Amino acid sequence: MTGRQPLLSLAVSPRTASQAPRRVRILGAGGTIAMAGTGGDGTSATPALDAEQLVAAIPGLEGRDDLEARTVVNVPSAHLTLSDILMICREARDAARRGMGVVVTHGTDALEETAMLCDVLHDAEAPIVFTGAIRPASAPGADGPANLLDAVSVAASPEAAGMGVLVVFGGEIHHARCARKTDTTSLTAFSSPQTGPVGRVTEGHPTLWSRLPRNPPLDPPDLDRRVLVVPSGAGDDGTLARAALETEPDGVVIGTLGAGHLAPEVMQLWADAAERIPVVAYCRPERGVVLTGTYGYAGSERDLRETGIIPAGFLSPQAARMKLLACVASGLSIDEVRWAFRQDDG
Ligand code: GLU
Repeated sequence: MTGRQPLLSLAVSPRTASQAPRRVRILGAGGTIAMAGTGGDGTSATPALDAEQLVAAIPGLEGRDDLEARTVVNVPSAHLTLSDILMICREARDAARRGMGVVVTHGTDALEETAMLCDVLHDAEAPIVFTGAIRPASAPGADGPANLLDAVSVAASPEAAGMGVLVVFGGEIHHARCARKTDTTSLTAFSSPQTGPVGRVTEGHPTLWSRLPRNPPLDPPDLDRRVLVVPSGAGDDGTLARAALETEPDGVVIGTLGAGHLAPEVMQLWADAAERIPVVAYCRPERGVVLTGTYGYAGSERDLRETGIIPAGFLSPQAARMKLLACVASGLSIDEVRWAFRQDDG
């Protein structure tokens, strides 16, 4: 087990790079960035552009011989299957293993999940950068071209080497493990509630001011496992927990109130389940982690940490689900899953 590492360390990148930029592979994976139709007037947005067309439409990218583009899938987030997501992540990782910077254009609705899984798989130095758009390619003020241009600059940049997977959106750079879609329609739809952005892109130049430690990678053969996210709320009587457990999941990501608190009966249900399957707990607030001993009432974090329930650390429920899926699909034991999540529970 590794010791505690700081979540972020400061590393401001100089504005003049000493190394040459990387070649970049752009992988199209659908989403609004690849859609046309402005909506509202009978021409609602649907998938329209492949990755080559996306690049060709952007002054500053078209005709560049250090770029190559390929469409992996062209669907909205809500149509992606877990095997699509694994295929996208593998393509990105394999290109990064060959030393290329990688940009994945993706629907914003489920970008968090694919970017997180990609970070779990990613085992090379070259950066992988996810981006997308809020406005379809045909809309006035479409944001896709600027986002793609920024993402390419980050993927090509020597300063982004060793950063793992990043999300570039609205001029901000987020780490995949921290990024969340926090606004349905804003041009800065992503934020990192726990940490803030790790950098930004200005005048086509990425500035990175902090880094996250990399985690040991996993390489699941598939994602054919059932991992459910089960939230909790005031007055929880365990109905949802029992229903979830009746589906015989391979793992569960559970919501806790505040910093790791549950109704005592619900805590007991999950404590019993945690003897058989990995049960990972996130905090309902967007920021903060499961405490260790501030409260001592029944169902407090003190009880939680005495059970086999595994704190998700700073990960969102979406991110924790993808990591747990990768863990169980890789055949990790409950103790190995605990070790894997310990890296995010600083
Ligand atoms: N706003 C979303 C997008 O950016 C909707 C569609 C999707 O996620 O695929 O791409």
